[in-house]
Amino acid sequence: MSKPRAAVIGSGFGGLALAVRLQSAGFDTTIFEARDKPGGRAYVWHEEGFTFDAGPTVVTDPDCLEQLFALSGRKLSDYVELISVDPFYRLCWEDGHTFDYVNDQAELDRQIAAKNPADVEGYKRFLAYSEALFQEGYVKLGHVPFLDFKSMIAAAPALMKLQAWRSVYAKVATFVQDEHLRQALSFHTLLVGGSPFATSSIYALIHALERRGGVWFPRGGTHKLITALATLFQELGGTLRLSTPAKAITTQAGRVTGVQLADGKVEAFDTVASNADIVHTYEKLLGAEPRGRAEAKRLKKARFSPSLFVVHFGLKAEHPQMRHHTICFGARYRELIGEIYGKNSLAKDFSLYVHAPCASDPSMAPAGCSSFYALSPVPHLGTADIDWAVEGPKYRDRILAYLEERYIPNLRRDLVVSRIFTPADFQGELNAWQGSAFSLEPILTQSAWFRTHNRDDVIPNLYFVGAGSHPGAGIPGVVGSARATAGLMIEDFLT
Ligand SMILES: Cc1cc2nc3c(=O)[nH]c(=O)nc-3n(C[C@H](O)[C@H](O)[C@H](O)COP(=O)(O)OP(=O)(O)OC[C@H]3O[C@@H](n4cnc5c(N)ncnc54)[C@H](O)[C@@H]3O)c2cc1C
Repeated sequence: MSKPRAAVIGSGFGGLALAVRLQSAGFDTTIFEARDKPGGRAYVWHEEGFTFDAGPTVVTDPDCLEQLFALSGRKLSDYVELISVDPFYRLCWEDGHTFDYVNDQAELDRQIAAKNPADVEGYKRFLAYSEALFQEGYVKLGHVPFLDFKSMIAAAPALMKLQAWRSVYAKVATFVQDEHLRQALSFHTLLVGGSPFATSSIYALIHALERRGGVWFPRGGTHKLITALATLFQELGGTLRLSTPAKAITTQAGRVTGVQLADGKVEAFDTVASNADIVHTYEKLLGAEPRGRAEAKRLKKARFSPSLFVVHFGLKAEHPQMRHHTICFGARYRELIGEIYGKNSLAKDFSLYVHAPCASDPSMAPAGCSSFYALSPVPHLGTADIDWAVEGPKYRDRILAYLEERYIPNLRRDLVVSRIFTPADFQGELNAWQGSAFSLEPILTQSAWFRTHNRDDVIPNLYFVGAGSHPGAGIPGVVGSARATAGLMIEDFLT
């Protein structure tokens, strides 16, 4: 029997993980990637000896990646070295307070007690709560395709017991009193596109995920993980076609038949999975089908995560005072987040995440130099229709001046190279609806069954993988979605 032919549109972490699973299981798999390099949000730029990872830098749950190599008896460590990051993050506030979020309980207790002794006990209870969420939300449900409402009902009792309808911040506030600690334990949702004040408390599981599995960085940068997955896929016999955007997914009699490319040619496939943006897929790739038009219309009414403004910069100086991951909280927390999610213009202040990879791996910059990126969550283009060609350079200058004043002395004097990635780039380069950085906002009413299903409800041989599908954004999320989607495709085609 000939192998079923599968196409995967997009080579983000989710697309690559799915393609590896399909190829390992016996599909003849082809990835079509629009850009010249694989990785999607995990793209990379090399400039004047500096390596700039475009997106993910905090690698958690390496086991979910290890599983992809184990499928063919291989080991992740034969492809890429993961370096343990310590502290996980340094958190800094404008009033001068800092908190090193480490994986050493005694050190955590010491820092918490120094601020508010009562919170030591509260933190312990929070950790136990986070552990319970981790078991229910990640271990049991993180890779299960929620195709029908029954599956949601089945999961409901556990979710209700854990008060999943409350927000992460509201739940954290029941455990600890200190406002800095509340922020330290709730900001993580922003890393997957959710407001701590609106995202289901289920996402507090990220804390347990980090405490259990650690925080890692691939030597040479996150893109080395992408290269590792692409290499593995090709070693297994899969085909990766870069600079090859899909123009349409073709259908006949209600089934997917293939992929049309920019030159108009159609290549036949038994099944297609899209790792591209969900609105782009339904509206543009399936626009000829009533299903595509109807679903795109419905999705456009959903709430999408905000966007990000990212400035990458290389300096001709080293900065050993910088930790690998720093969160620089601005003066406002709740109010600023409210503006990022709802205001039609840029806020006057910002909170930043600063990536300083040379803290773990000096090879990310030439000798005596250092590479960085600073990331600021900003409204997506549907919330604030900002002309980023005009505002981008000004916003970059504000961020660099702020960092120079508080964290990185002489930054502008030592600047060798810089580049920015704005909401307009998320939209233009990645086909992201409204320039959202993380697809659908991870609120309870857009999670699990309420999120785009891993298999389309109407077209039976069309599948989805990546941030817009269950369980959602983040490397562990999209790699989990690949497991859910691959399970369905294997069941539908190989059993
Ligand atoms: C700046 C930033 C920092 C982040 N930091 C972290 C972090 O530290 N840790 C973490 O776990 N997560 C992080 N995330 C989130 C994480 O990176 C994403 O959720 C995840 O990488 C998305 O993967 P995906 O599988 O959905 O695919 P994407 O990365 O969205 O890739 C989709 C691919 O589809 C391609 N495509 C689109 N249209 C077409 C078409 N028509 N034809 C062919 N190809 C097409 C695109 O070019 C792209 O390559 C971060 C995200 C960003 C943006």
